[in-house]
Amino acid sequence: MALIVKKFGGTSVADKDRIFNVANIIVEDYKKGNDVIAVVSAQGDTTDDLIAKAKEINPGNPSKRELDMLLTSGEQISVALLAMAIEKLDCPVISLLGWQAGFNTDSNHGIARIKKIKTDRMKAELAKRNIIIVAGFQGINKYDDLTTLGRGGSDTSAVAIAAALHADCCQIYTDVNGVYTTDPRKVKTAKKLDEITYDEMLELATLGAQVLNNRSVEMAKKYNVELEVLSSLEKSKGTIVRENTKMEKMLIRGVTNDKNVATVSVVGLKDLPGVAFKLFNKLAQYKINLDMILQSIGRGGTKDITFAVSRDQADDAIKAIESLKTLFEYESLHKDDKVSKVSIVGAGMESHPGVAAKMFEALYDADINIRMIASSEIKLSVLIDEENTEKAVQVVHDAFIS
Ligand code: ADP
Ligand code: ASP
Ligand code: MG
Repeated sequence: MALIVKKFGGTSVADKDRIFNVANIIVEDYKKGNDVIAVVSAQGDTTDDLIAKAKEINPGNPSKRELDMLLTSGEQISVALLAMAIEKLDCPVISLLGWQAGFNTDSNHGIARIKKIKTDRMKAELAKRNIIIVAGFQGINKYDDLTTLGRGGSDTSAVAIAAALHADCCQIYTDVNGVYTTDPRKVKTAKKLDEITYDEMLELATLGAQVLNNRSVEMAKKYNVELEVLSSLEKSKGTIVRENTKMEKMLIRGVTNDKNVATVSVVGLKDLPGVAFKLFNKLAQYKINLDMILQSIGRGGTKDITFAVSRDQADDAIKAIESLKTLFEYESLHKDDKVSKVSIVGAGMESHPGVAAKMFEALYDADINIRMIASSEIKLSVLIDEENTEKAVQVVHDAFIS
């Protein structure tokens, strides 16, 4: 007998038929004698719809606490409906909200981190041979207020349960049958991967591949939880995410894009020591997460610095720099949010020279201009004009994956 943790995303529980489909997947494993805990997301686009409702009431800024109060309701609906479907199939089942399942988080509403899972309740329900359905994406803070874990956070809920209860496996069911070399809905030639390492998956998720939430991958690596990403809609082998994978003849494992990017340029800074320090120190005080940084060569005693941030932080970055005007001078400040980041990821890059040249050649052939570049051992990202995103993903994918 094994303990199996399964997670079902929004499309997998979108309507009555899908809910019964998921109920049957769960019951099939339960009837083989396994313990089953299923984590579920809100149905279909419920979370987006709830956010839109909040904006109707308070377009400016609903408080993050109340937003969490609202958003957690989406998952409450799906756990209850799924439990009812399992009752209909004559199996013992109980649904639990995040707090009932023991999810204690910090108070960072909207992007809370799990601090601890009190597993007593889940263990007691398993001892009674109940199937457990847990509301994903949510927890409770030390003031007993509801919190959410950030978009796509149900993946993290599932991995956290698998880690806390030492589950035998953690299966992430979604609407595609695994992790692909790029989004299979956008690029028809995308190839399914049999396996991928935690590090590669973490980069892909962070750089825009929606299929797994990046915090869930981080946690899976930390607690050595092997993940399987598979389809809830068709029976087929999925993709395994683990520490080491078989060596495949693949230079890169995937291509991603991220449109949540903007650049901020500070033009005409004095070309003196300490200028970059003061600038980035101020940005750190404003809690701005920087990505790529470019400094021009000094000419005529001045230099320019451009950096990339997420779009929602661009205005804060501008404010931070404007607050420095009395400390040091610059000529002008510019924001550009019509940019995007296209990245390639793969452990094979480390040992193969020429990967960068191959990516740049593909972009050059497609007449796409590169505005900034950033690289690490297993990833290479370029910043380009947003309008070229889809074309860039396609040509870079074609260049590496035949
Ligand atoms: P869920 O609701 O099940 O959590 P998501 O919508 O969050 O599902 O993630 C699944 C989607 O991720 C797929 O429908 C696919 O369009 C997208 N996706 C993006 N990049 C990839 C990739 N490299 N491999 C597989 N799917 C990807
Ligand atoms: N329902 C939440 C969201 O849409 C959490 C999740 O789906 O994982 O982001
Ligand atoms: Mg998701």
